[in-house]
Amino acid sequence: MTATRVLVLNSGSSSVKYQLLDMRDSSRLAVGLVERIGEESSRLKHTPLNDGGASRERTESIADHAAALQAVAEELAKDGLGLDSPELAAIGHRVVHGGQSFTEPTVVNDAVLAEIERLIPVAPLHNPANLTGIRTARALRPDLPQVAVFDTAFHTTMPESAARYAIDVETADTHRIRRYGFHGTSHAYVSRATAELLGRSPEDVNVIVLHLGNGASASAVRGGECVDTSMGLTPLEGLVMGTRSGDMDPAVIFHLMRVGGMSTDEIDTLLNKKSGLIGLCGDNDMREIRRRIDEGDERAKLAFDIYIHRLKKYIGAYYAVLGRVDAIAFTAGVGENSAPVRKAAVAGLEQLGLAVDDELNAVRSDEPRLISPAGARVAVAVVPTDEELEIATQTYALVEA
Ligand code: ADP
Repeated sequence: MTATRVLVLNSGSSSVKYQLLDMRDSSRLAVGLVERIGEESSRLKHTPLNDGGASRERTESIADHAAALQAVAEELAKDGLGLDSPELAAIGHRVVHGGQSFTEPTVVNDAVLAEIERLIPVAPLHNPANLTGIRTARALRPDLPQVAVFDTAFHTTMPESAARYAIDVETADTHRIRRYGFHGTSHAYVSRATAELLGRSPEDVNVIVLHLGNGASASAVRGGECVDTSMGLTPLEGLVMGTRSGDMDPAVIFHLMRVGGMSTDEIDTLLNKKSGLIGLCGDNDMREIRRRIDEGDERAKLAFDIYIHRLKKYIGAYYAVLGRVDAIAFTAGVGENSAPVRKAAVAGLEQLGLAVDDELNAVRSDEPRLISPAGARVAVAVVPTDEELEIATQTYALVEA
């Protein structure tokens, strides 16, 4: 029997998200989530999709990632999808930071684990949890290939002119300070899917990808390769996000320390968790913000306007970086669902060949689709992202090779 299943694991500090896919047809066999790991009332939600079974929930104390994965394995086994099955080909892990070391998906061995560990200083929140996930999965199935798929990998093609900050080179190199970019798996998937939607090969197409979720980033992709992206050393740089400020004068930080008397941790929390849309208006869900705007709420309107202003600046900047743009692709929670954001982002850019057709923009669908008027110079598209499928595809391609 050929092994055609891939388990995709996305391990956070207190959660594990998973999907089991069959790579013969890229179908999902099961999806689920373990939350509040290490707390009294952890929760596991498991949905088998192979034979139309209903979702199951477990609420119990799940002490650590090992216990979480064990619980996931038990649930999968109930549906005949156990992790001991010979049909399982590999486990693909989302790893947030691969630094400059990892430009491609990589089969995990001890040296790879050591390198991911070495990168913890540049990804203190994410890499430790990702490592725990890999180590746990390895202990469970030591014989199985484990593949690390890095959020930063797609951006390693950025030229030095885009990847370097204009700071003292030695200081930057000592501390590995440069622009790495994140959401790479999504930018890779969406830029390819956009070329496909246009019926062209990725090598022939220049795309601006706008990944607008709770975290948000833009990228400029020339002929399938990333040439610039809006996130930097960490995911804090760039667009206005749900709870992150995005771009700002770095001197704001000195000011908050010197004049505001704030500590490093307090400022970190302020900029990462209490800024962006939530800091501006108290809500980070675009649906709620639109509802408030419809009721005449001025704060919500200002938050929306600041969000759109920044987005437009990046569209203009990446237009200039690429020189020729074939398509702009909106993706992730806001990009896929918010017609007002898409309309406002390209409003007034007709001179750049950009426009949205209101009727097409209003269509709700899970499929990639064009929303620009027929004959437009630049295609404007909505392209749902699928990071799990991309991780599974890259993982399977590597173990099949
Ligand atoms: P994450 O960054 O957490 O992966 P998602 O890509 O799932 O985020 O996006 C989540 C965000 O998408 C929500 O915070 C919300 O602002 C937005 N969103 C989800 N559904 C809609 C919708 N129907 N209309 C507008 N915005 C939406």
